[in-house]
Amino acid sequence: MSESRAFCPRCGDPVPERSASDANDPLRPGAEVELCDACYFEDFDFVDAPDRIDVRVCSRCGAVHRGNRWVDVGAEDYTDIAIEEVSEALGVHVDVEDVAWQIDPEQVDQNTIRMHCYFTGVVRGTPVEEQVTVPVKIARQTCTRCGRIAGDYYASIVQIRAEDRTPTTEEIDRAKEIANQIVADMEATGDRNAFVTEVGETDDGLNVKVSTNKIGKKISNKMIEEFGGTVNDAETLVTEDEDGNEVYRVTFAVRLPPYTPGDVIDLADDDGGPVLVRSARGNLKGVRVTTGERYEASYEEGNSPEARRLGDLEDAAEATVVTVEDDNAVQVLDPETFQAKTVSRPDYFDPGVETVPVLKSRAGLHILPDEGDESND
Ligand SMILES: [Zn+2]
Ligand SMILES: [Zn+2]
Repeated sequence: MSESRAFCPRCGDPVPERSASDANDPLRPGAEVELCDACYFEDFDFVDAPDRIDVRVCSRCGAVHRGNRWVDVGAEDYTDIAIEEVSEALGVHVDVEDVAWQIDPEQVDQNTIRMHCYFTGVVRGTPVEEQVTVPVKIARQTCTRCGRIAGDYYASIVQIRAEDRTPTTEEIDRAKEIANQIVADMEATGDRNAFVTEVGETDDGLNVKVSTNKIGKKISNKMIEEFGGTVNDAETLVTEDEDGNEVYRVTFAVRLPPYTPGDVIDLADDDGGPVLVRSARGNLKGVRVTTGERYEASYEEGNSPEARRLGDLEDAAEATVVTVEDDNAVQVLDPETFQAKTVSRPDYFDPGVETVPVLKSRAGLHILPDEGDESND
């Protein structure tokens, strides 16, 4: 019967034979030479902590500088940031099991938080504990983004205008919404360079200054996708960067179509009757208020056929229906003079109703669709 023995390579004391599984443990690569407990604990260092931690924090947005860039950490306050940085910086010995720890922050002054950290664990069947104190110094700075925002930096400007009119309140509000939404979506993906620098209404529309050309392009494309119209972009050389590259600022000029859904227009050289505009995306589309027939402008006319604007759905007044004369004519009371008048009967006219919305304009009196029970969108 042979007895196998092992000895501590440092002091020569006998140590228990190691099991085969222990010796092959890939998590303990240096463990093939086993020290006795006394020699092991002589060198044992439970917690590895730096002498101090310096943190650069943006005093405007709370971003933290890590490596060579600013990152949003979503911290509530500086203590949160200090805890996070200390957690990142501390290390515990790989052999220790059942590690538990807690941090007790002590605010020393406005920019210093002393972090008292208590660690416990078990190694070689022996409970171990250690206390370390790491001062965290907070340096309040301004991150690149906040610096740019404060400096009114912008790379792109979106001009919202409309052809032969000023943009409607709805269009202006929607443009602001779109700009904020696009920036919010980009921020949500961790893009720190996306921001709206300035939104300003002008006499003829809206100007939106944004931090990148990409955002400007997205806003203008979304506007014409929703409202129709065109966009032109023009580059202006503004400066050269530190490497001598030319830096351009791009202006996106959005031109919304001359007519908007809900407008009633009278087409030039056309005797089919006024048209209620339903869509100005692509070719202008609508319905004849005389017959209810569908109208679509030709490709050449696009969204701006030659026409004059008579009014819109909101200008309509309620008129009493006197009598339905035949398939083509209805008699209503003129809402201003209260005289009975015969007007064209469009196919959307419901003969069962007592009143109908009518538009009185240069082109006469016309029955409009009753939009009360259907969505305008
Ligand atoms: Zn030993
Ligand atoms: Zn910032």
